Amino acid sequence: MSQKIEHVKCLIIGSGPAGYTAAIYAARANMFPVLYQGSQPGGQLTTTNEVENFPGYPNGITGPAMMIELQEQAQRFGTDVRDGWITKVDFSEEVHKVWVNETTEIHADTIIISTGASAKYLGLDSEQKYLKLGGGVSACAVCDGFFYRNQEVVIVGAGDSACEEAHYLSKLCTKVTMLVRRDEFRASKIMAKRVQNTENIEILFNTETEEVLGDGQVVTGVRAKNNRTAEVIEIPATGFFVAIGHEPNTKIFADYLKLDETGYIINTPGSSKTNLDGVFVSGDAADHVYRQAITAAGTGCMAALDAERYLAAKE
Ligand code: NDP
Repeated sequence: MSQKIEHVKCLIIGSGPAGYTAAIYAARANMFPVLYQGSQPGGQLTTTNEVENFPGYPNGITGPAMMIELQEQAQRFGTDVRDGWITKVDFSEEVHKVWVNETTEIHADTIIISTGASAKYLGLDSEQKYLKLGGGVSACAVCDGFFYRNQEVVIVGAGDSACEEAHYLSKLCTKVTMLVRRDEFRASKIMAKRVQNTENIEILFNTETEEVLGDGQVVTGVRAKNNRTAEVIEIPATGFFVAIGHEPNTKIFADYLKLDETGYIINTPGSSKTNLDGVFVSGDAADHVYRQAITAAGTGCMAALDAERYLAAKE
């Protein structure tokens, strides 16, 4: 098959806040960035309803609307925003090669990876239904917890994230019920203890979610089953938080970039540099700790500045 080969100065992979912020800075530095949006244009924020914690939006903004504004801002300075999915990379030479949709081959002087991470969900139909409706299912307590203040919520998961998020929610909500599928936490002892010592968090061990209950528009509760006794209970709740881990979207880079044991790209602390010259990372692809739109945007800025300095040093 004949392939089209294109040479670009700066290729940005991913279209969340990290990718678009990198694009704004790269475009303004005359790097003529080309940005591929990937399979979920706008990234994780497009599954969020209202964003109220991104500075500059005093009245809040919906996730999809915010991503359109970021895209427009990136395009205003000349970013070439394209539909497309990166299917293969070859970073073995100085000019990095990337293939789009198996056909277009791109050679890039610098690459900014902003492919993000995907929250894992249980996969129940009812969970997905209320997630899509924006009716009370969330994978981010820091983003959405505020909407459930003075209400009762359920959270599923038993790792550090679930403990951290349960604790965060306990400060806003009247009651947090935590569903743990085994008879113990996976979280570190200190995180688990904090949850166990919080009065308004009830922990149900050996308990699995059967169904997210609702009135067709919003969540009204959760049906859960004890996997030891087979007892089924219904827990009233207006919010259902899923904290069972994230998966960084980094698999295609695994042959070339250093990843940690859970797949996050390892960057030089305090910079966006990866183990390869000219390849930079921003956003959740390298961050399992903060995972916020604003931190992703901040590291997107860092990646564009690092890429620009890398090119300047080569000239
Ligand atoms: P983890 O993979 O550590 O934990 C996932 C949890 O979800 C496990 O308890 C697992 O249960 C549970 N789970 C998975 N699938 C299901 C399911 N289908 N139904 C019910 N429960 C399920 O992910 P985290 O996001 O918590 O943490 C990821 C990494 O980030 C870890 O290394 C963690 O230490 C780190 N982290 C550190 C923080 C900090 O230090 N402040 C904060 C947050 C994360 P089971 O245990 O039964 O497998």
